Amino acid sequence: MNILVINCGSSSLKFQLIDSDTENWIAKGLCERIGIDGSVISYTPAGGEKETKVTPMPDHTEAIRLVLEALTNPATGVVKNLDEIGAVGHRIVHGGEKFAASTLITDEVIEAIRECNDLAPLHNPANLIGIDACRKLMPNTPMVAVFDTAFHQTMPPKAFMYGLPYSYYEKYKIRRYGFHGTSHSYVSHRAAEVLGEKYEDLKIIVCHLGNGASVSAIKDGKCIDTSMGLTPLEGLIMGTRSGELDPAILEFISNKEHLNLSEVMNILNKKSGVYGLSGDLSSDFRDLEAAYNKGDEKAKLALETFCYRVAKFIGSYVAAMNGVDVICFTAGVGENAPLVRTWICNYLGYLGVKLDEEANKKRGEDIVITTPDSRTKVMVIPTNEELAIARETLALVK
Ligand code: AMP
Repeated sequence: MNILVINCGSSSLKFQLIDSDTENWIAKGLCERIGIDGSVISYTPAGGEKETKVTPMPDHTEAIRLVLEALTNPATGVVKNLDEIGAVGHRIVHGGEKFAASTLITDEVIEAIRECNDLAPLHNPANLIGIDACRKLMPNTPMVAVFDTAFHQTMPPKAFMYGLPYSYYEKYKIRRYGFHGTSHSYVSHRAAEVLGEKYEDLKIIVCHLGNGASVSAIKDGKCIDTSMGLTPLEGLIMGTRSGELDPAILEFISNKEHLNLSEVMNILNKKSGVYGLSGDLSSDFRDLEAAYNKGDEKAKLALETFCYRVAKFIGSYVAAMNGVDVICFTAGVGENAPLVRTWICNYLGYLGVKLDEEANKKRGEDIVITTPDSRTKVMVIPTNEELAIARETLALVK
């Protein structure tokens, strides 16, 4: 079955059409600047050339219409008509406590997702617009919602509660939710598969290090803790996000810089992380590494602080699980930055981690990057959130 995977942002829309038999993508692309001047769609059929077209996209319905047009285009399309698309899988950022698993989309499900809008005001409304647009254009095609938060719903209360008045949890559902769940789930399952071990028997730590970054701890086949919180701002230092900090800093910055709360939040989300630490040099680790190699002290500080924070989270999850068997690196930085992996692993001598320098240089494959006598295994597993969404979708529509 061909499954269309949609990841809808407020002004962008990523898509992939995946053949569930081969699990390969057969076309993929991106719509950008939806609702803004200069909208552009890029489309790549498997084995073909990438095409880019600047064309008006006043809303997401028009973006989806253009995606479907590209997929069915007689010259460069990959399907004859829309009947050849068996199902659509939508990535939904926040499922709150309502969704501990993926689910078939119905009117009730849409309403329940809408009720989570408060928890992800930038993301969930955009995800819902994507669902709405697809339902208009493909009214008879089954659709599935796959939540970023669902994998983490197995966390026990001691891991998800904050040290705040209990009534805030009751009234507003303020708690840790965690994100990147599809990736943490995919990577941890894949690690067990590659190692030929039973998932339930392993203690696994997944470091999803991309522009957004989070760590999770998986024991007895369940996620027991993760670093992102109520929102994706908590935990690790990220590309432009601060990660965890002393909450009193918000008021302090607000007073010193004469900024209101939303302006301070904007700084924490968009001007902080390795970008801010590097003196606004870049949020991209390629730029930071290049600058570090030229002796830039702030780039070095950003990289060191990033790695130190990851190592501290690994340590805390080793404590939470009373050990660890496998540590996995994934996402843009985790998959592509051997230097970052080396610096993090330098903190892990107490786990008997022995890095295999040659394996650590490889790229684009599922690989163990520690030596055979390393007491704890470290792996690189390229994440594939789209495939994970397609699998979840298939399982529910079959
Ligand atoms: P993601 O959010 O998973 O797409 O990751 C994007 C980030 O991965 C970029 O912002 C870069 O910081 C990082 N990245 C991608 N390629 C490389 C590379 N070759 N070396 C270091 N970092 C990389």
